[in-house]
Parts: sequence; C-alpha cells; structure tokens
Amino acid sequence: MSVQTPPTLMQLARQALLRSEALAISALEKLPMELFPGLFKDAVHARHTRVVTAMVEAWPFPCLPVGTLMKTPNMEIFVAVLHGIDMHLDTRFLPLSVPRCLTAPLETLTITGFHLSQRDLNYFPLCHNLCQLKQLDMSGVVLLPLDPMPLQVLLQNVADTLQSLDLQGCRMKDSHLTHLIPALSQCSQLTKLNLYDNDFSMPILKDLLYHTVNLRKLSVEQYPAPLQCYDESGCISVERFSHLCHELMDILRARRQPKGISFATRTCHKCAARSVYDLVPRLCFCLP
Ligand SMILES: [Zn+2]
Repeated sequence: MSVQTPPTLMQLARQALLRSEALAISALEKLPMELFPGLFKDAVHARHTRVVTAMVEAWPFPCLPVGTLMKTPNMEIFVAVLHGIDMHLDTRFLPLSVPRCLTAPLETLTITGFHLSQRDLNYFPLCHNLCQLKQLDMSGVVLLPLDPMPLQVLLQNVADTLQSLDLQGCRMKDSHLTHLIPALSQCSQLTKLNLYDNDFSMPILKDLLYHTVNLRKLSVEQYPAPLQCYDESGCISVERFSHLCHELMDILRARRQPKGISFATRTCHKCAARSVYDLVPRLCFCLP
C-alpha cells in the first residue's frame, strides 16, 4: 500500500489561489516575494495563462526562471510569458508616465533601478510637480551615458525643499559630479545624501566636501571611496583607503562637524561586503 504525502499548507494555499484566476491576479500586489516562484510553477503547470502573464508583469526578482519551466513546451504558456515580459518592460522603461500624469506636487520621487533615457531626464526640470520634492531616490539609475545638466537644474529647483538625495549606484564619473556640485551646495535642507557606488576621484571628492560646508543639517552622508584607493586590477589598497579617507574626513572636520559620515568601497567580489571608513576603517571580510 502506498502512502501519499499530504500537501503542505503552502501547496494548499497556492491551490486555493489558483481556483480563481481573478483572485490570484488581484492577490499578486500583496503576495510575499517568496511565494512567487512556487505559484508561478503551479500556474504554468495548470496552464493558467492569465495568471502567468500577470505574474511575469509583476515579477519581483531580477531573473525569471523560464528555461526550467519550458521542459514541456507549451505555446499557449510561452505566449503568455512573452506577453507578461512585454508589459513588465513597458512598466520599467516608462518611469516618468507617473509624474507626468500627476497634478499635485510630489514630495517623494523614487525611481530606483529604472532605465532612464536622456529624453526622460530632460523632462525632470520641466515637470512642475517636482518643484517641491523632499525625497529623491534614483539609486541604481545608470547616469553614466547621460548628460547630467537636467538633474543639475532639478536640484537647483528643489534646493529649498530637498531633504534626502539617493544617487547610489548611478555609475557617475567626475564630470557628472562637477555639474551637480554647484546645485548640491545650495540644498540647505538636505539631511541625507548617498553617493555610494559612483566612480569619483580624490580631487572631485575634495571639491564636493568643500562645497558642502553650508549643508549643516546633513545627518547621514555616504560617499564612495576615491578611485585612487584601488589598484590596476580593481582591488582595494588598505593603506591608501585609510589614508585618503582620513584626509577627506579631516578636510570636512576643519569646516563643519559631520554627524554621520562614511566612505565606502564597492562591494567586494569575494565576500559581497564593503570596506567602510567612518571613524576607523572597517574592512571587508577578505582583508586583514
Ligand atoms: Zn571581501
């Protein structure tokens, strides 16, 4: 006599959700991330094409494991997945459709990880809804190939209201920061500034710190370690990291008293941690 393993509570919950496609689709917005893979697999196997499309559109992870699900190819499911990818891309690549449609001023704008075109960025300073921004989070938006002038004008426009600016991981270089420094220096209400994961040299970081003298409300300021901390192969030199960050800290302390300041390297390829210099250097797990 064979003994059947009873379904887990999670399996029962997924089955209950998939009994009604409409219910499953409406639940996606509040569905915990960890339930997506299992529900997606069940929806594919049961050929709930509408749920599959909606799940792909709302997919919360950077990778969609389609390959393993296509071991038993089904054209209907394949089309449903492609349709979902289409809608997912539309959502990601048109980030400015939201502020364009709003009539009231926005206090918070978060467009993390989006692909932004120059045309999108050019629209920023023209958008009247953005003139009273308090929080601007563009972390992960790659600005490397873009002309930063529109961002400079936006920062000038919101200099009296902006309290938090997050440009972590925007892959900016010195030339970008050169454009932004005059506007940044006017943002007198700024309490949080995050510039981690941008490629700035020692001279431009010094220039930036000279220009933040009037930003006395800053309570959290996060800067990337200068490029001169890395050797030719991109590895951190502990000695240079400590020395240069100490020098930058001294420059700032001579002009104002920073409350919470740190300089951080990129995340380490081996241990995924950063080396951070605040009061003392705290090195990633691989470094002595
Ligand atoms: Zn490491």
